[in-house]
Amino acid sequence: MHFLKFKIFEKFAGMIRHGLSTRNGGVSGGEDGKEYLASLNLGQFEEDSKENLEENYKRFCEEVGVDSGRLVRANQVHKDDILILKGEVDRGNYGLNKPQGDHDGFITNVNGLALSVRFADCQGVLFFDPVRRVIAAVHAGWRGNAKNIIGKCVRKMVEEFGCSAGDIFVGISQSLGPCHAEFSEPEKELPDWMQKYVGGADGRHVDLWQCSFDQLVAEGVPAENIEIMRRCTVCENDIFFSSRAGKGKMGVMAGVICLK
Ligand SMILES: [Zn+2]
Repeated sequence: MHFLKFKIFEKFAGMIRHGLSTRNGGVSGGEDGKEYLASLNLGQFEEDSKENLEENYKRFCEEVGVDSGRLVRANQVHKDDILILKGEVDRGNYGLNKPQGDHDGFITNVNGLALSVRFADCQGVLFFDPVRRVIAAVHAGWRGNAKNIIGKCVRKMVEEFGCSAGDIFVGISQSLGPCHAEFSEPEKELPDWMQKYVGGADGRHVDLWQCSFDQLVAEGVPAENIEIMRRCTVCENDIFFSSRAGKGKMGVMAGVICLK
């Protein structure tokens, strides 16, 4: 199986495990009319079979080296609620089939919990503070950017875990690039402060990568600690699932991070 990693986390290989899936290496999409799920679908819980999803997650988690029984996932709802997991957590309460409710992010300092977020054009954003040994994972589409869930995650790491923003490293996954983040009426769909990210020849394309970067820097995360993968899910639809490229018919990728 082919999965991706952030270069910025390479030097922390002794402390964390992490990975980002692609659309390759799974078992989904074999049924007529479901080819769009091929093959490593890690979402679309209504459209795919439980067996396929379990096998796909098993393969992905094994490859990354995390325990699928300690997978932490939620119903992502494009809001900015972040679940804090610290202290005595019930270790039996996790796994693919035990979603944690409506959240779009997690933060923890508990070893072995594999925080996961799912995306197919949205950004999967992974955070690590090697000083306080705190990790986080956030799902951010443009609605998440508009609510600044990324900045909120940094603030929560500081408030809840005593992190310093200057110690935090962040990776931003494959996602919609400015080449394909096209809006119908960005002046109406996006808040005023996001208008500076609107551009392109037609004035309707939005640089959500820059927006996320700026949100991190505004909280005090050093620019050199931030890695934007800069791979667009539409441009590379042969490797990545994309909601836009598939017009809503697509599988879903995942990003996972875990403290060793
Ligand atoms: Zn593109």
